[in-house]
Amino acid sequence: MDLRQLFLANVAQTSDYPLALEIVRAEGIYLHDASGKKYIDLISGISVSNVGHRHPKVVEAIKNQVDSYLHTLVYGEFIQAPQVQLAHALTQTLAVFTTKEGFVLNNVYFTNSGTEAVEGAMKLAKRVTGRHEFVVCERAYHGSTQGALSLGEETFRSAFRPLLPGIRKIKRNVINSLSVINKQTAAVIIEPIGGEVGAVPATQDFLAAVYAKCKETGTLLIFDEIQSGFGRSGTFWAFEQYGIVPDILLTAKGMGGGMPIGAFIAAEQHMSALKNNPILGHITTFGGHPVSCAASLATLRVIQEENVLAHVAHKSALFKKYLQHPKISEIRGTGLLLAAEMADFETLKQVIDRAILKGVLTDWFLYCDNAMRIAPPLTITEEEIKEACDVILSSL
Ligand code: PMP
Repeated sequence: MDLRQLFLANVAQTSDYPLALEIVRAEGIYLHDASGKKYIDLISGISVSNVGHRHPKVVEAIKNQVDSYLHTLVYGEFIQAPQVQLAHALTQTLAVFTTKEGFVLNNVYFTNSGTEAVEGAMKLAKRVTGRHEFVVCERAYHGSTQGALSLGEETFRSAFRPLLPGIRKIKRNVINSLSVINKQTAAVIIEPIGGEVGAVPATQDFLAAVYAKCKETGTLLIFDEIQSGFGRSGTFWAFEQYGIVPDILLTAKGMGGGMPIGAFIAAEQHMSALKNNPILGHITTFGGHPVSCAASLATLRVIQEENVLAHVAHKSALFKKYLQHPKISEIRGTGLLLAAEMADFETLKQVIDRAILKGVLTDWFLYCDNAMRIAPPLTITEEEIKEACDVILSSL
């Protein structure tokens, strides 16, 4: 059997339509398949490869760490330099912000993935507030494990009931939907820029109203920046563009520069709840793996030292300028988390398929199947943007 047949036979399939490209090498914004064909990657493994595939400094950091040690002991026991340095560097990006309680986000709990960051944050919010209800936006995706799944849309969660009770929904950017936030709410979990809903930024007024309502009711504000963080929005964290600071911040995806890692970040005053009643309030074996931490630290340094963020807004504007076409009804989003909306899924799917044949990889969104996902590595050049947009336009 060839690799494709083995893939279909032995690798668990979650749809009948896997893309099934066989990637043999990736570098910068390019993916290369087994037939020798080269693709411009406009989706970055779903907002992961923010500094490009296999950035040399990320690869070097991984190699150096592999030469020192891999896993040594479960999370939180040993002092591991890459983990400590990464926690410090992350908290440095947050040191100038204070939460509504006057705290600084100075404590990082490392996980392996985005959904685990959501789970940990939900547990922490329960411990800090003594409440168990959560409020989320309609059509927001926060993960696939059972707590995070409880926050999701009915189509994805109904087959898996019973799930968590007490989940209430608000409508993104509709201020008069916020009355469900009350003194029973442990936390509001919200993306400053909605990812899987189709790159929909929160309006300033809406986010300010959510913040005010959380403050009024003693509810924690959790920002899920798993997709918008690590520079994708054009600032290191998307919330910086709003001047609204969360009580708990979630990151993953782009954080690892291609390695699996996530985190929930909070003030020590809150995070210390995980130390007692019960002791070991959250446990992970691999969370904050030293190789992932080394890769993440290198990624953070690349973003800071190579001035990556300075060009994101301009690159975003270039996509918005080039992708003007009668079949694109709207192009929206912040930074390099963009969506080009078309009439329906059938139209979009044809365009995506044609673009792949011509060597440009795009996608749709989990909760928005009539908009093209455009989320390339932040390192894409102006010429490459033009080239990719020309392919999309010719595919239309
Ligand atoms: N939150 C958001 C906003 C996401 O986009 C995702 C993944 N698409 C997740 C959480 C879950 O992350 P993971 O797949 O790493 O569990």
